[in-house]
Amino acid sequence: MKSHAKAVVIGGGVVGCSVLYHLAKAGWTDIMLIERSELTSGSSWHAAGGFHTLNGDPNVAKLQAYTVQLYKEIEELSGQSCSLHLTGGVMMADTPERMDFLRLAHAKGRYLGMDTELITPSEAKAMFPLMDETNFVGAMWDPVEGHLDPSGTTHAYAKAARKLGAEIVLRNRVVELTQEVDGTWNVVTEQGTVKADHVVNCGGLWAREIGRMVGVELPLLAMEHMYLLTEPMPEVEEFNKSTGREMIGVMDFKGEIYTRQERNGILLGTYEKACRPWSPVNTPWDFGHELLQPDIDRIAPSLEIGFKHFPGIEKAGIKQIINGPFTFALDGNPLVGPVQGLTNFWCACAVMAGFSQGGGVGLALSNWMVHGDPGFDVWGMDVARFGEWATLRYTNAKVRENYSRRFSIRFPNEELPAARPAQTTPLYDTMLANNAVMGDSWGLETPLWFSPKGAEPKDIVSFHRSNDFGPIGEEVRATREKVGVTEIANFAKYEVSGPGSENFLNRLMTNRMPKTGRIVLTPMLNEFGRLIGDFTIAKAGEERFMIWSSSAAQKYHMRWFEKHLPKDDSVRVHRFDQTLVGLSIAGPRSRDLLQKLVDVDISTKAFRFMDFREMAVGGAPCMVNRITYTGDLGYEIWMAPTYQRLVYKAIKDAGEEFGLVDFGMRALLSMRLEKNFPTWFRELRPIYGPFEGAMDRFVKLEKNDFIGREAAAREQAEGPKLRRVSFIVDAADADVMGDEPIWAKVGGKDYGTVEKPHGYGAPRFDTDGKEVRGSRAAEGASAVRGIVDGDWRVVGWVTSGGYAHYVRKSMAQGYVPAALAGNESAGLFEIEILGSRRPARINVEPPFDPSGEKMRT
Ligand SMILES: Cc1cc2nc3c(=O)[nH]c(=O)nc-3n(C[C@H](O)[C@H](O)[C@H](O)COP(=O)(O)OP(=O)(O)OC[C@H]3O[C@@H](n4cnc5c(N)ncnc54)[C@H](O)[C@@H]3O)c2cc1C
Repeated sequence: MKSHAKAVVIGGGVVGCSVLYHLAKAGWTDIMLIERSELTSGSSWHAAGGFHTLNGDPNVAKLQAYTVQLYKEIEELSGQSCSLHLTGGVMMADTPERMDFLRLAHAKGRYLGMDTELITPSEAKAMFPLMDETNFVGAMWDPVEGHLDPSGTTHAYAKAARKLGAEIVLRNRVVELTQEVDGTWNVVTEQGTVKADHVVNCGGLWAREIGRMVGVELPLLAMEHMYLLTEPMPEVEEFNKSTGREMIGVMDFKGEIYTRQERNGILLGTYEKACRPWSPVNTPWDFGHELLQPDIDRIAPSLEIGFKHFPGIEKAGIKQIINGPFTFALDGNPLVGPVQGLTNFWCACAVMAGFSQGGGVGLALSNWMVHGDPGFDVWGMDVARFGEWATLRYTNAKVRENYSRRFSIRFPNEELPAARPAQTTPLYDTMLANNAVMGDSWGLETPLWFSPKGAEPKDIVSFHRSNDFGPIGEEVRATREKVGVTEIANFAKYEVSGPGSENFLNRLMTNRMPKTGRIVLTPMLNEFGRLIGDFTIAKAGEERFMIWSSSAAQKYHMRWFEKHLPKDDSVRVHRFDQTLVGLSIAGPRSRDLLQKLVDVDISTKAFRFMDFREMAVGGAPCMVNRITYTGDLGYEIWMAPTYQRLVYKAIKDAGEEFGLVDFGMRALLSMRLEKNFPTWFRELRPIYGPFEGAMDRFVKLEKNDFIGREAAAREQAEGPKLRRVSFIVDAADADVMGDEPIWAKVGGKDYGTVEKPHGYGAPRFDTDGKEVRGSRAAEGASAVRGIVDGDWRVVGWVTSGGYAHYVRKSMAQGYVPAALAGNESAGLFEIEILGSRRPARINVEPPFDPSGEKMRT
């Protein structure tokens, strides 16, 4: 074993081997993988080997599609077969709601380059005759599904990596990790110490233990998972003989089961409700190639439904039941990337579908390590997406919930109950007493809307407008016409201070920094000129800036800030999290209200739009921004949690004479829609440039050199290919949720890009190992294939939307080719909502207060 490596990958499961292969392919050959036992000795060896491309997150779906395409490449390079069976598969819906869910997934596929198809239960039966089709109302066919040999695939990655120069050390456990002051890692193993520049945690079932070696508690948990194998079945053999085809894979939501052909019989697995974690606190180091005791009682309810839906399987004898553990993060997606607070410590763990996702994870992580950037929009699997609140017990509750809901529909207005409440503000009980329906915002309880007195504060979950529609409308109208108050503790808040702070922020942000007492809005870009943040920044003092942004991006942004901090200690970045909370008041009477609570003049001239001031509000020391996301006259008021109740009570008491109402996050989001304001992670993401995102006025190319400036200048000079736009939609009783396709009547005209980008410029390699750069397609974009209907074509996708209550219109935001972005013609666009194409019209100016006069008064 060598004593130094550029990177040490810990763990020889399918994920570790894929990471090793991709690092070697990207040109890092001084790398090694260290495995405790033999390759596949964690969860990889007993996997059912199924793979598919569908994922709730379109960007993760894209990386899954890459994984499936990759298998041919590693087979050729390694000479090792993966035993690939590309059978295709169906998802079966037994209720109209589940069919709506499939329609949504199918619509998304229109611009993701997926060839899914909605089919009838009888058509599904023709491909899987063991089912009783009368149990179902419809199905979705996905041709890119199948199964493979898990062990063969893991070895194929490993052999291919070895061929490219990587070293693999077996039967050698990593027992300790320490870091020198120069950043070098000491990887202490049973066979000696390896010095490494980078360490990658691919520990699978032991990833938590490896995290603990460096003081990190990773939010993942192993769950027991069972599948059964039947004896050979004559029906299967007969089908194969008569059709010349293998039976397809089937996913049944109701039974929480998946099933497919395995040799001449059937494999049937369950995601049962009564699920069970495995080794919830510590994973034993001596666990290896053994299986867990099957527990047929636990899966009996799923089997009962399964046998009813697939009576052909019930008749077969059960040959074996496999029960094995594998790991999940809270939301079922992987934990990938550099861990915030550490240097050169990387994760690729909690990969619950290693054979669908392993390739994409390996590619993104190797890009990140070699080129400093994943090259794809990997937010959906970024290890930075969970906060400190994701403790061991929190994780346990959430993973169990996620597992038991694996085949359940998540409605757009559905909040999940496990592990709640976790974090609360001092106003939590008050909000409950006010009949608030609460939601989880990055682990924090946040009021979503207020149910009328006497009505149960509860969402009726639906894809259509629901019981919150009326009350949100009331909240919006009262705020727009009088004044409203809402909690905004769920924003991210930072303080950047020190003599180097202004230069630091000027280097990171696209806009000029404000003068003392003023506020600016500014995007942040990566080196490729893509959007990685959107901030409100106030200059609070000579060497002190206050910053607000998206709550969920706190660790993601801290990681970026830390990476770019000057080494001379001239800048400090402090993340407040919930040590600073807030309230926002908005509406035409908000100034009158606030004036009653402060002892300074806040008239239009004394406290202008975009001013920042520290002042006592209701007697409590606060920071006040003259700005609100409602796009109206309004204020954001920030205080230590100890003062929040005092300030809220003062606002409520003083607000009575102005007709003050409480409003929640959903009303806030509705109001931002009618101002055409974007949201982070929806409209603004790393797949878009600032000009594509219509953030032009916040990008000052001439101010000084900032990260991403060159690429942004190029984007501006060449003209953005896509453009964010707002639509008014002629919706029926359902509004857009996000990810719907946008159709345009373009006739024979070519408007250029009809591709959804997923990557953004980090070098990538084709199957011959040649570097490809430049075109969006090479960056992982999906060409929209065959989506033509007469004169109509899919030209874009929705990012978010909903009902804009004050202007009483259904609205959507999304991306279309730039050449179409200014075209407000009626009859040009349609947006597909739940399978029905609704007329839509671009609305360049916001329908509420287009001149911005109200917020400036
Ligand atoms: C019953 C069952 C069915 C499944 N079916 C499917 C399926 O159909 N499709 C699918 O995609 N996925 C399926 N999975 C999940 C799949 O197995 C996992 O996604 C995959 O195995 C994860 O691989 P990994 O490399 O992350 O982890 P692991 O396979 O657990 O590998 C981690 C490796 O790290 C090594 N290691 C840990 N700590 C150390 C250390 N300190 N020093 C050295 N080495 C260390 C371990 O020995 C192990 O080999 C199934 C899992 C189970 C249990």
